[in-house]
Amino acid sequence: MVALAAMPGCRAAVPVVEPVLDAWAAVCGARRILLASPRSLCAGVERVIRTVDMLLDQRNRAGNGLVYVRKQIVHNAHVVKGFEQRGAVFVEELDQVPDGAAVAFSAHGVSPAVRAEAARRGLRVVDATCPLVTKVHSEARRFAARGDTIMLIGHAGHEETEGILGEAPDRTVLVESAAGAAVLEVADPGRVSYLTQTTLAVDETTEVTAALRRRFPALEGPGSEDVCYATTNRQHAVARVAGRWDVVLVIGSTNSSNSVRMVEVARRAGIPAHLVEDAAAIRPDWIGKAVTLGLSAGASAPPVLVNEVIAALQGLGPVTVTEHTTAVETVSFAPPVTARPR
Ligand code: SF4
Repeated sequence: MVALAAMPGCRAAVPVVEPVLDAWAAVCGARRILLASPRSLCAGVERVIRTVDMLLDQRNRAGNGLVYVRKQIVHNAHVVKGFEQRGAVFVEELDQVPDGAAVAFSAHGVSPAVRAEAARRGLRVVDATCPLVTKVHSEARRFAARGDTIMLIGHAGHEETEGILGEAPDRTVLVESAAGAAVLEVADPGRVSYLTQTTLAVDETTEVTAALRRRFPALEGPGSEDVCYATTNRQHAVARVAGRWDVVLVIGSTNSSNSVRMVEVARRAGIPAHLVEDAAAIRPDWIGKAVTLGLSAGASAPPVLVNEVIAALQGLGPVTVTEHTTAVETVSFAPPVTARPR
């Protein structure tokens, strides 16, 4: 695909296939971009990025050693690639990390079994799990300790749910939908509690929780909701302005749960919406003759990607950019103490 960014003013003198050029020429014109705010990096992702930054700086100063990271540090291909270029080594499991090496755990958290394995291997662990994910782990331990069956609302295979399930694997069941909640059977319906993945769709989570409550009136929940502030705010920002957009673009990777949910929120509001990794992933048929274009970014997508998309759209004609703010975020998390130089 020809990168949109390579066609400033639709007069690019680059060799392109004619039909592709025609497709882009057909979507040239003046546009309004409405930026949803909050968007882009959350406090948990900023913390994990800063953590790996610190580890790489220490490695560079020492002039030796590798920085290993278990799983994608955050679900964004650009962030991961940037760190790889600076020397971080991403591994799927700890058996790929040499004994005694430093390893960072990603923002999504890990199960107790992974922690135990790291301790057994003598690894220097820098745990960059988002504190809001750590909170859900604590709740899982509390509910399991009192003998509850825990219903974890979330998506199978996501690293965060895998880590939480690992806290009490014999007492936890994964619930992915209201339909799944309706047919769930447990040993003791009087001792049940629920938790949720932090990056779910707020409205769908409410539906699933309601379905669980109908089925299990004794159901107890966490002290405060688990869907995190950043996920909630980004979805609300998209939902509040969706009616003013012709089409919505959400910048994020396909494995970014919160980014995918933002696209779903816009679509449920009846607006065509697309998830884009970056400016190069935009297709002309997505834009068409849309005059007002909504733009947002998931919690793991760096702001530079937003700027690049705006610059690329400016290549199609005059653009006015306005921001619609539905919440102001002040949350920040300090990097883990174990990331400091020893
Ligand atoms: Fe933490 Fe929420 Fe960001 Fe996930 S999306 S890292 S839970 S703040």
